[in-house]
Amino acid sequence: MPELPEVETIARSLAPRVAGRRIAGVELLYRPLLRRGGRKGLEALRGRRVVRVRRRGKMLLVECEGGRTLVFHLKMTGQFLFAAEGSPRDKHIRLVVRFEDGRDELRFRDVRKFGFLLCLEGEPERACAELAALGPEPLEVGLPGFAAIIKARKGRVKSLLLDQRRIAGVGNIYADETLFGARVHPETPASSLGPEAVERLFRAMRRILAAAVEAGGSTLADSGYRDADGNAGGFQFDHKVYGRAGEPCLVCGTPIRMKRVGGRSSHFCPRCQRPPRRRAP
Ligand SMILES: [Zn+2]
Repeated sequence: MPELPEVETIARSLAPRVAGRRIAGVELLYRPLLRRGGRKGLEALRGRRVVRVRRRGKMLLVECEGGRTLVFHLKMTGQFLFAAEGSPRDKHIRLVVRFEDGRDELRFRDVRKFGFLLCLEGEPERACAELAALGPEPLEVGLPGFAAIIKARKGRVKSLLLDQRRIAGVGNIYADETLFGARVHPETPASSLGPEAVERLFRAMRRILAAAVEAGGSTLADSGYRDADGNAGGFQFDHKVYGRAGEPCLVCGTPIRMKRVGGRSSHFCPRCQRPPRRRAP
């Protein structure tokens, strides 16, 4: 699933190609994609200019004139591409945005069909409960704010990192890489982490997310992620644990393990990331 670095890369590749262009029409090719706003909402976009494109958590916002916003969640396989108007469309195209200049059209493609779209009116953070519920951005929150989020939770640290209401944008890949970078076992109770471990976690999360944005995200076979220009990411070559089960740890040589934690596959080094100590009976 595209996470913060992938959605950020998509937003950055999309922005210069759509900002300032006037929408001629929006074609919905797969009805369940649109969860809010209805066809009327899409029709109301006609003649409006795209003002800006931005990311919040794992969601991508296309803000248009008159306070109208399209909010996309790419889920597993959602992607954007540009194509000449009238050129053949493959069967996985779910939505098309045409522009008045007719240069090209923007297509939303989603093989697995888990992605969704909200068509909002008004300030997006107010009009959308999904956006309002998101925790702070991991590249914006400070160490005290991050520490408060960690200490307030009884659950496992891996589940906390994945909880979008606590911290927005981190998914399975970057949670595993962050935990390895901080030498914290994914099953460690979040509230049991000492200040040093919390700081290691904070610094690892920021370093890894920033490096992944710089590399254009991670492209794995299952998501087929590409930015809006069709470029694959490069950060998959820097993964230390994710997708490396059975391969030697790059630090100590111990085979990387995979285990389900909170229903999600977790990749970690059993030696570099010590399991939490059980309390004495
Ligand atoms: Zn190791």
